[in-house]
Order: sequence, then structure tokens, then C-alpha cells
Amino acid sequence: NILLKEKNLEKTPLMIQWKRQVILRRILWMRSKNKETGMAAILIVEDEHRIARFLQMELEHEGFSTASESNGLRAYERIIQEDYDLVLLDIMLPDMDGLTICQNVRKLSDIPIIMLTAKDEINDKVTGLDIGADDYITKPFAIQELLARIRATLRKHNNSTTKPAE
Ligand code: CA
Repeated sequence: NILLKEKNLEKTPLMIQWKRQVILRRILWMRSKNKETGMAAILIVEDEHRIARFLQMELEHEGFSTASESNGLRAYERIIQEDYDLVLLDIMLPDMDGLTICQNVRKLSDIPIIMLTAKDEINDKVTGLDIGADDYITKPFAIQELLARIRATLRKHNNSTTKPAE
């Protein structure tokens, strides 16, 4: 009887471990599936709610999964802590501007970043690319152009990270 009880006790953590592994595998499988079908996860960092909602609607319509953040400092933390495939990054933001975010993220991660710049911010565009943004687009932009740039940036990034070692 004591032996049986011990066996039952052993079973419980094993089952939990096994279930955890199943869930983890499922998450990894979903992630690779999402990547295959182009359903990348995009973080939209934009403090103008109308633009953010418009982008969210358009991107989800295209099959991307999205999240949005309006505060610069929180955006920086989320980019570092959460798992996104690409970031759309506005420049003028409360608490931390987009250029500073980009600069800080680049110290830790090579996640693709597309800067959203206001018209005539030529210096910001150049600075954005200099500090490691992958691309930029000028507001107001045609959604088709942004989608094309997102796809191109994701392709470039996936090619550079999945290239087999020689
Ligand atoms: Ca802004």
C-alpha cells in the first residue's frame, strides 16, 4: 500500500511535466506554422489611437497577429520581453521616443523594426537607419506600401536568420 501511494505521488509531477511539454510543443508548432503562413506577430507602437487602430485592422485583415502600444517606455519593455516578429515604431512618443527605443533595442535584439516618420522628418529617417532600423515609411502612407515593406523586411530577416551554416 505504501509503495502504491508513492507511485501515485510520483505520477502527478510527471503528468504535469508531460502536459507542459505538450503545451510547449504546441506553442512552438503554432509559432512555426504562423511563420510558414506569413502570420507574423507585429507590435504597433503609435500614440495616435486612430492610426494605431487603422493599422491594427489592416494588418489583421492581411493575416498578421497584432498588438499595439502607445507609450514609448512600455513599448521598449514589451519589445524586449514579449515575442514579436516585427515592430512598427513611431518616433514622437510619450516617455521614450522611437529613436531611443530603436537604439536601446538594438543593443539586445535584431528584431525587424520599421520606423513610422512624419512628413519632412528627413533627419529622423537617416538617424533611424543609422541606429539600426530596417526600414522607414513616411506618414501619411498608402497601406499597400507599408504591407509590401513589412513583407520585404520579414523575408530579408528570415533569410538572414535561417541561412544554413557552411
Ligand atoms: Ca506620435
